[in-house]
Amino acid sequence: MIDSVCSISCNTIQPTSLVTVDFQIKDKTFNIYFKNDESNLLSGNTEAFIACALLPSMKMGGGKISTNGKITTKFISGLSTIQDIYCVWEPSFKNIEVVGSTYQTTVSFTQKRVGAFFTGGVDSFYTFLKHQEEITDLIFVHGLDIQLEDTVLRNKTSEMIRKVANEFGKNVIEIETNIRELLNFYVDWGKLGHGPALAAIGHLLSPTLHRIYIPSSFTYKNLFPWGSHPILDPLWSSDSLEFIHDGCEATRVKKVALIAKYDIAMNSLRVCWSNPESSFNCGRCEKCIRTMINLKINNALSRCTTFTEALDIKQIVKIVAHDVGTRAFIQENLDELEKNQTDNELKKALIYVLNKPEMPYLKRFRRRIRGAVKEWIASLFQKNLQKVCL
Ligand SMILES: [Zn+2]
Repeated sequence: MIDSVCSISCNTIQPTSLVTVDFQIKDKTFNIYFKNDESNLLSGNTEAFIACALLPSMKMGGGKISTNGKITTKFISGLSTIQDIYCVWEPSFKNIEVVGSTYQTTVSFTQKRVGAFFTGGVDSFYTFLKHQEEITDLIFVHGLDIQLEDTVLRNKTSEMIRKVANEFGKNVIEIETNIRELLNFYVDWGKLGHGPALAAIGHLLSPTLHRIYIPSSFTYKNLFPWGSHPILDPLWSSDSLEFIHDGCEATRVKKVALIAKYDIAMNSLRVCWSNPESSFNCGRCEKCIRTMINLKINNALSRCTTFTEALDIKQIVKIVAHDVGTRAFIQENLDELEKNQTDNELKKALIYVLNKPEMPYLKRFRRRIRGAVKEWIASLFQKNLQKVCL
């Protein structure tokens, strides 16, 4: 018996519609599933499971990840650099070694299908529209940005994505997974966790897809540790699947300039994190407001039917922008307004938000709230920990 920080058990070999896999990480067991109701597309790909287990194992002190199955030379070489990057980002992380797998030396490229992760947001619409000639499949994953319990929003989003796909003659691959239970337990989802989750889902779709686009969140000007990242995503590739991190060349204003040319995007755009009453956009949160400003700069706000609230300066000045990502998005909007436009009220509001001092007591309060929210989210996903969903 190998003494491992993590051992992985999965019996799936042939393509199937349900993959269940057990991760034993030190003394904790996580039962994780990936489900696709429509066709037998999912493979029991060992590289997918290693992607899921990597961060928890590195966080728990490194050592050996024990699994069986086949891995490719390119994947294992990328995994080494991925670990180097994580160890710089999180100095307490320790390296791992994969044991028990065999190397697959010959991989046939019989499939020509190309996927793109798609949520209906600005980034995913931009990447899809930019590569619409090449992309054959839109990949919608339930359980990442939409909670598993929110089936109303899931169904509404699924219907919207199918409408978009239908308009362009594309296929939709819809996957449900509880992978966040595992990753949320060990790492911050935004800063680290969502990248390996996307990589894992991609590998489960290999070899049906041979290339997958991952839409970027930030531009090349604003790069910092983030789960999906232009230096990380390509390193998750294998000998049979290529990941492309796409869209870093364009700000959200530029991305909206492209998607505003398409009525289907203006009738489907979904960006909100809070989703009150399972709505696509609340019109009041920071992400909604930033997108409404992107649309306004492109003279497209009135055409975007998924925003029903008016852009309200009183809501803008309430935005708290102390993290690097939020500040970058506000600055992008401000730069664009300063270049071409004369909406002084809007400019002043954004300058006010960027210069708003953070009161020390407010900082402490916010840190406490953030910690409590993180714990709450972790406990929410933990609730289903022992459930095997069939
Ligand atoms: Zn919102």
